[in-house]
Amino acid sequence: MIRRKQIRMMVEKLLTERGIREAPIPVADIARSLGAIVCSQSAEDELSGFLYRDKKSASAIIGVNERHHPNRRNFTAAHELGHYLLHDFDDVHVDRQSKIWLRDKASSQGVSLEEMEANLFAAELLMPEHLIKKDIEHQRELSHSDEDMISELAQEYEVSEHAMTIRLAYLGYMHH
Ligand SMILES: [Zn+2]
Repeated sequence: MIRRKQIRMMVEKLLTERGIREAPIPVADIARSLGAIVCSQSAEDELSGFLYRDKKSASAIIGVNERHHPNRRNFTAAHELGHYLLHDFDDVHVDRQSKIWLRDKASSQGVSLEEMEANLFAAELLMPEHLIKKDIEHQRELSHSDEDMISELAQEYEVSEHAMTIRLAYLGYMHH
């Protein structure tokens, strides 16, 4: 079972303690405050990111693919931060595109629990429900189409439209 409640509470605490009340969520700053440095690195296209953990010094390096769009890198960084906080991987954990980005399909095909938890952590961190809720109400007042709404929210939260679409569906704001 994915630890949904624990992940949500963990993220709430991270945001509250740092006084973060609006998007975009500064994921690299949060990671740094927890001992994990985010850096962009050149890599083959299918590599999304990796987590290198140094247990001795209780620190980590989060690598994200510099060839990918910054919004996508944000999600990858948050995903790796999720692994860092939630999972006891040794040394290096590498994420390839298919694992993260095809998760709708893959979740029924045996993508590991760890990957689903890291995705949920990333979504909760970058797109907190209480902020999304406020923004959606505002967007609906403006009678924006779902397409415009996704595009605007994706820009505001600095995530891909794909990630925003999945998040809105998860929160019950859209039929996906
Ligand atoms: Zn992962």
